[in-house]
Amino acid sequence: MEKTTANRIVVIEGPSGAGKDTIIKTLMQRYPDRFGKLVSVATRAMRPHESEGNPYHFVTNEEFDRMVEAGDIFEHTMRHGEKRGMSERYILELFNANKIPLKDCDIVGVRALKSRFNNVITIFVTADKNEIERRLRGRGDKPEDIERRLKDYDQCILDAKYYDYVLINNDLEKTIDKIIQIIS
Ligand code: ADP
Repeated sequence: MEKTTANRIVVIEGPSGAGKDTIIKTLMQRYPDRFGKLVSVATRAMRPHESEGNPYHFVTNEEFDRMVEAGDIFEHTMRHGEKRGMSERYILELFNANKIPLKDCDIVGVRALKSRFNNVITIFVTADKNEIERRLRGRGDKPEDIERRLKDYDQCILDAKYYDYVLINNDLEKTIDKIIQIIS
């Protein structure tokens, strides 16, 4: 398949607590006509307070397999028997609405996106580990989750070199300004 060149996709990645969610939400709130969140497709059961598209496009296992077979889902992983993947359909929907898809995804996802689309801008955001710990506590994460996320931090940070830009997210406003500058 031809790679799509005209439209941009922006990936925001970084260790848990770096501020990915906050950055994506802020960009969408400030520029609702310009950005849209690219939501993954998942087979896991919807939990209370979740809905279609939040935080996933929920499909059955059979639907998921059909989307893979049709070439629509072009990257997927399986964990504990539950599948999760990226679908081209939702990227094209955002392109059609003239929006830039925003996505947090790891290096495997980045590679899949870059092999399918030409104009993928990847931004790695991070902060000092002590600051991350403070943020995870401030966010109300459980102690065991904080411990696991801080362990993952060192591994995650090694992937920063594969991203186009690395930003230290100390000042949210400055980070947002830099991202807008990168995209413009
Ligand atoms: P992630 O999605 O990368 O796990 P979040 O966006 O949930 O991170 O941010 C983690 C916590 O840090 C949240 O409580 C958020 O409000 C806070 N936070 C995000 N960016 C900053 C920043 N630049 N300075 C201080 N706190 C921040």
